[in-house]
Amino acid sequence: MSAAEFDLVLRAPRVVTAAGEVARCVAVRKGRVAAIEPLDAGLAGERTITLADDEVLLPGLVDTHVHVNEPGRTEWEGFASATRAAAAGGITTLIDMPLNSIPPTVDVAALETKRTAAAGQVHIDVGFWGGAIPGNVGELRALHDAGVFGFKCFLLHSGVDEFPHLSADELEEYLQVLAGFPALLLVHAEDSQAVARAPTAAGDRYADFLRSRPRGSENVAVAHVIEAARFTGARVHVLHLSSSDALPMLASARRDGVQVSVETCPHYLTFDAETIADGATQFKCCPPIREAANRELLWQGLGDGVIDLVVSDHSPCVPELKRLDIGDFGVAWGGIASVELSLPAVWTAARAHGYGLVDVVRWMAERPADVVGLRRKGRIALGGDAAFCVFAPAEAFLVDPTRLHHRHPLTPYAGRPLAGLVRATWLRGREVTGDTPRGALLSRGAA
Ligand SMILES: [Zn+2]
Repeated sequence: MSAAEFDLVLRAPRVVTAAGEVARCVAVRKGRVAAIEPLDAGLAGERTITLADDEVLLPGLVDTHVHVNEPGRTEWEGFASATRAAAAGGITTLIDMPLNSIPPTVDVAALETKRTAAAGQVHIDVGFWGGAIPGNVGELRALHDAGVFGFKCFLLHSGVDEFPHLSADELEEYLQVLAGFPALLLVHAEDSQAVARAPTAAGDRYADFLRSRPRGSENVAVAHVIEAARFTGARVHVLHLSSSDALPMLASARRDGVQVSVETCPHYLTFDAETIADGATQFKCCPPIREAANRELLWQGLGDGVIDLVVSDHSPCVPELKRLDIGDFGVAWGGIASVELSLPAVWTAARAHGYGLVDVVRWMAERPADVVGLRRKGRIALGGDAAFCVFAPAEAFLVDPTRLHHRHPLTPYAGRPLAGLVRATWLRGREVTGDTPRGALLSRGAA
């Protein structure tokens, strides 16, 4: 037995804590943060690690929007590869989306199938969203009781036939049910009719693809979700906001007390439609990446606090489905796979917009943890889980897709210069190496 009071002590010249950025010793006992003291406090750990002068200790990030796709489409991505990639990107908790796996997570049997598939494979902590589809309103309560963090629905075709979308009437009916538990409803907010009336996406021109998913389809869907939340009193969350037009009405709804939270994704904050090459279907996602001016307004929305959080929407597929051979945006799979690059991508652009690491941690750790009710995650605080990311914010690198850990190396960030390297990731006081999976499967309320 060692006489050390703590299992691990991390000495860091810069730590992003709930109280801002400070120099601290962070001590861990039994997987939890047991002390946060000044550097000279002399805390004794069985193991002591001193961070380099160019490193900052951040809380492990929380990514509430990841499509793992296992079982059923494991050739697209799986729990081992997705969680290894997430860990390499400083993420210590992810919540898995209910669709693209088969079965989709629309009843308790499917949730158990997913948990069984994930068990023993996960390198970080993993929770699950349930799905809200036509015909499963009677399953929602049981899924909620079984520990899903909330439910996801679409308002237009989801991209996979086994996960159909809700009609306007169904959205309201489901919200009324969810308000009673209460449970959160995540909405893919693009309007089915507005997209059906837009020009169809076909061919290799990005401008044509952009016209097929107009801002108006997002705007009308977001307005609809807000009013349904206002009427039912339910809690809603707008997924992957791309149209900056929707920001004023979201701000106004929140001032009125409507319970609505909002996320956007690193790709909407990084890229712009003007510079996406024709045929470059690795950039295809829905809603689409829009103009540079739109992107700047999304940054303003983050700064104003109207957008709560930034999550990856990691949505991989086998490379053939991106159809880079013909570059046709009409037939290519819509989804961007880059979970490992979320932090450097957001940090690179955040720094250029005058934001600091405290802001990035709020968007990518604290707020996501708050929205899903993970009380011990998302911040370095006494009693919290000892989940950390050792980040070197000034280190620049070029994205080499072959060095990424997700299953298929295709990414729109290929060759892009980014700032900020994740040097290590810690979960419950142990370094995540990608060898031994030590992540836990999470249930709502239990973490
Ligand atoms: Zn998604």
